[in-house]
Amino acid sequence: MSSDDLRLLAEEAAICVACGLAETRTNVVFGVGGANADLMFIGEAPGRNEDLRGEPFVGAAGRLLDRLAEEVGISRDEVYIANVLKCRPPGNRDPREEEIEACKGYLAQQIKLINPAVVMTLGNFASKLLLKTSTGITRLRGTAYPWWGRFVVPTFHPAAALRGGERVLNDMRKDFALVRRVLDEPAAEEHVIAPQERAEAGPGATSLQETTQLEFFA
Ligand code: SF4
Repeated sequence: MSSDDLRLLAEEAAICVACGLAETRTNVVFGVGGANADLMFIGEAPGRNEDLRGEPFVGAAGRLLDRLAEEVGISRDEVYIANVLKCRPPGNRDPREEEIEACKGYLAQQIKLINPAVVMTLGNFASKLLLKTSTGITRLRGTAYPWWGRFVVPTFHPAAALRGGERVLNDMRKDFALVRRVLDEPAAEEHVIAPQERAEAGPGATSLQETTQLEFFA
C-alpha cells in the first residue's frame, strides 16, 4: 500500500467529530508505525499521556509492550500500533458502544491499508470487536484465530499486566511467543484453533480480497 493513503486517512481522522469524544480530546491519536508492518497491535483507547502527545502507548503500558515485543525479537519500528478509539474517553472510562460504532471505520481502513500478517489485540475491547464475540480475554487468549486472511492473537492489555502481576505477565509472554511463531511460520497448522471454537470467534479464514473495510466488524 501507499503510506500516502494512511496519511490521508490520518488527516481525515484529525478533524473527526463523529462522536462526543471530539469535544474533550486534546489530540486525535490515530496510530504510529510502518505502513507495511507485518504485526499490528490494537489497544482500547488513548489515555492521558497519549491524548497529550497524540501517540499511542507512550506511558508505562507502552514501555511494557515494547519490552514484551523485544523479548521475542520485535522492535517498535517493525509494528504498527493503534487503538479501537482514536480519542480519549474522559477519565479513562470504558469506550461506549456508540463511540466504537462511530470510530471503527478508521480501524478497519488501517487494517486494510497496512495489511499485517498478524493482529495482536490488547484487552477485551479490541479482541471482542475483531473476533465478534462476547467471550472475555482470559478465555480468548492463548491461540491464533484465522481472521480475514491473517491471524488475530488476543492478549491482555499491558495495563492489566501492570496491575495484575506475574501471572498476567507470564500469559502475555506466551502470547508474544505465539505471535513470533505465527510470523515465522504462518502456514503451520498448530496455530489454528479448533473448529468449534472458531465458530464462536468470528468470520474465520475469509480472504481479505472478499471484503471491504467495515465488513471486518459487520
Ligand atoms: S473517537 Fe473516533 S469517531 Fe469519535 S471523534 Fe475521535 S476519531 Fe471521531
